[in-house]
Amino acid sequence: MSTICVYCSSSNAIDDAYPPVAEALGRQLAARGHALVYGGGAVGLMGVLARAAHEAGGHVTGVIPSKLQDREGIAYDADELIVTETMRERKRIMFSKSNAFIVLPGGFGTLEEFMEVLTLKQLGYHDHPIALLNADGFFDTLTSFFEELREGRFTREALSELVHVVPTAEAALDRIRAVAPTDGTPS
Ligand code: AMP
Repeated sequence: MSTICVYCSSSNAIDDAYPPVAEALGRQLAARGHALVYGGGAVGLMGVLARAAHEAGGHVTGVIPSKLQDREGIAYDADELIVTETMRERKRIMFSKSNAFIVLPGGFGTLEEFMEVLTLKQLGYHDHPIALLNADGFFDTLTSFFEELREGRFTREALSELVHVVPTAEAALDRIRAVAPTDGTPS
């Protein structure tokens, strides 16, 4: 069993195709006995995900900076809510509590969080599985840009050496294996 950190959109205005993916991930994650760590908000895919995991009996931990509580809402679906002073502290706690990462469609915040766990893995700070849930081809442009980086020798590893790019929640969870917890030191 793993504690899975999920990074995802805080927007309520995105296409209707995406909330069912977050809902399926929350439900299936809980059904497989995994715990969820996420950004603690009630908005966007974050809210859908947490609600689904909670309703399916999963343990949900939300981690949110005090400044964002008004903007991203209070996580009524979290069994545990950790309020931090800073964004950095939020990310550090989310990272240190988790031993696998799943990235759903999202905006700048999601991409920032994804790039951090990706680069930490590239540099050997952790060896936990990362799944990029490419729902509806959402990440196709990003993954082809990463391929260009590889072809231009800006990166040594191909993305596929570091990240499982998968089409569904089920496939993402199939890639997650029970692994040792991180040492809590992201950088
Ligand atoms: P977005 O993908 O932009 O909707 O953001 C998803 C989540 O990432 C939201 O909870 C944001 O508060 C969070 N976020 C944005 N920037 C950062 C950052 N620098 N560090 C940690 N979390 C962030």
